Amino acid sequence: MNDCLFCRIIAGDIPSTKVYEDDKVFAFRDINPQAPVHVLIVPKKHLASANEIGEDNLGDVAACFAAVPQIAASEGLSEGYRIINNCGAAAGQTVMHLHFHLIGGRTLGEKII
Ligand code: 5GP
Ligand code: ZN
Repeated sequence: MNDCLFCRIIAGDIPSTKVYEDDKVFAFRDINPQAPVHVLIVPKKHLASANEIGEDNLGDVAACFAAVPQIAASEGLSEGYRIINNCGAAAGQTVMHLHFHLIGGRTLGEKII
């Protein structure tokens, strides 16, 4: 039994509000949204973090980004949005399955770069 939370969400063992799915990507609403739109975009392949991105999974990671315009459009983010990845404990990563936060629906402040 895979005890990874996001693997279990992808498998449908734990309910989520899906907004997009293809053969490599699953995207669903964050349970604790930080903005009107807060979607988590995850590869179906289990990668613990950005540290595991490499030659053998570039297609899975690219598929996450390829899905962004479609998700942004369906969520009505024509004014803009932000994509965030937290990698590792010091960056605040709490779920060890690679995911990209897609955030928008309001004016976003607090830029850190
Ligand atoms: P991280 O802090 O690892 O970058 O982001 C993990 C995100 O997963 C958090 O924003 C948190 O709200 C979200 N999250 C944690 N557990 C669940 C859950 O069971 N369902 C959903 N939809 N999101 C979750
Ligand atoms: Zn996983």
